[in-house]
Amino acid sequence: MISANNYLYEMVRSELSWVVGEAHVQTGESDKLGHSIDYYWVPEVWHDRGQKLPAPDFVVYPASTKEVSEILKIANTHNIPVIPWGGGSGSQGGALPIYGGIAMDMKRMNKVLNIDPISMTATAETGINTQHLEWAIEKAGYSTMHFPASIACATLGGFIANRGTGVLSTKYGKIEDMVMTMEVVTPTGEIINTLPVPRHASGPDLAQLFLGSEGTLGVVTKATIKIHPIPESRKFHAFLFKTMHEAMVAGSKIMTSRLRPCVIRLYDEPETAKLIKRVLGIDKKGAYLVFGFDGPTKTVDLELEQACAICREKEHEDLGTEMGQAWWDHRYKFFYPPYMFHLPQAFGTLDTVATFANIEKVYWAMKNTVRENFPQATFIGHFSHWYEWGCMLYARFIIESPPKDPREAIALYNKIWDMAIRAAIKEGGVINEHHGVGLKLGRIMKELYGPAFKVLEDIKKVLDPNNIMNPGKMGFRTKGI
Ligand SMILES: Cc1cc2nc3c(=O)[nH]c(=O)nc-3n(C[C@H](O)[C@H](O)[C@H](O)COP(=O)(O)OP(=O)(O)OC[C@H]3O[C@@H](n4cnc5c(N)ncnc54)[C@H](O)[C@@H]3O)c2cc1C
Repeated sequence: MISANNYLYEMVRSELSWVVGEAHVQTGESDKLGHSIDYYWVPEVWHDRGQKLPAPDFVVYPASTKEVSEILKIANTHNIPVIPWGGGSGSQGGALPIYGGIAMDMKRMNKVLNIDPISMTATAETGINTQHLEWAIEKAGYSTMHFPASIACATLGGFIANRGTGVLSTKYGKIEDMVMTMEVVTPTGEIINTLPVPRHASGPDLAQLFLGSEGTLGVVTKATIKIHPIPESRKFHAFLFKTMHEAMVAGSKIMTSRLRPCVIRLYDEPETAKLIKRVLGIDKKGAYLVFGFDGPTKTVDLELEQACAICREKEHEDLGTEMGQAWWDHRYKFFYPPYMFHLPQAFGTLDTVATFANIEKVYWAMKNTVRENFPQATFIGHFSHWYEWGCMLYARFIIESPPKDPREAIALYNKIWDMAIRAAIKEGGVINEHHGVGLKLGRIMKELYGPAFKVLEDIKKVLDPNNIMNPGKMGFRTKGI
């Protein structure tokens, strides 16, 4: 952090203003505060309890790739951190300016540049809000099929940086499956492009290196993504099973039979009792499973019937299409107040993914760890993104009344994360499926990767010799406190 009463500070401010214009270099307290908190619980509670947050020295709004490149060159000259900022909706503290420096807010880079109806792709600047992107593509008669719960508050760049995902991921993929090619500005300011197509045998996949790099290896400035026709129909069906295990057997059979739902979601018994009851009004004991198919009506009807037949092999209650459609209609409600958890509660999304052989072991390992060590916490979960080989566990812990002292509250929060994630990794889980690593879980990356983490560290050192790009995130070198 540079002292604001310093002529070096004024020099950097002038240099940045020459690149983006004075109006686009903000140093006011409200601009800085707005770029000091994302959706990570720790800065939220820190601020809530009257503590001062680490803030950026400058909030800078570039309007072009060239401006991004110039800003990075200035940052290298003065050895100042640069933290790309999208919508600030990340839950891992990935966009927090923990060492001050330049918060590079990408929201002026928000144009859709091209829609190619022949190849069914669209190219956009990465600061675009994902809802605006979807609306623009829908206006042209297509869809991105990227429908995350944060569609209205996140950017395309944020999803690329975090390997994010939307509700229809089971058919249309996560963001790393959607991206065709990207333009990236490397930490030293070079403007590069990944290959024009995502399938090739021209060496390792450079695009996949930047997908999920959380602003530590450069700034993604443009991306071409796949777009899709609007399906003729999309239909849903829901079942209630006696136990989560029986529902998991049915869900995994749907996937391993190679049916192609656009979505499957399975809620454990406590989450069915808590959230499904509150949002959908289903007041029954058991595990709620919902799935949907989309495409030509005939294909949808056939696939839906086959998936229902699989579910009917087990003891079940058929909740019908209506209770499936209701889930789709209310799908975003699960993530916002009054249904979602909020301060003063402490809560964390213990997001992980594993094979079908391991996923229930991961669930029980996490649940038992939380239950046995933290009696003040409730554990609930659902399985939300499904693959041919396994699925994602979206577990949550909730503490109704965390300690008043922010240091104690954060120590407790960190301890739960540490123990629960380590328990998941032991059973074949990973740190995360779609929220990223950020500041929150960087400390566990070396453990997760083992010696392979050095490969990533070496790449980081070569690309970012001065360690200016989002230092201290994803388990990479810090700048020191
Ligand atoms: C209510 C709610 C619901 C959510 N639901 C979902 C969901 O359904 N699916 C999901 O995946 N996530 C979800 N999230 C989490 C969040 O929206 C995602 O992690 C999203 O990818 C963050 O995007 P952002 O633009 O807000 O990024 P930010 O939070 O601003 O930044 C996230 C990371 O990306 C980096 N970054 C941002 N832009 C760039 C760029 N152009 N180049 C390089 N690095 C960059 C930042 O430095 C940071 O490390 C949800 C969050 C909330 C608050």
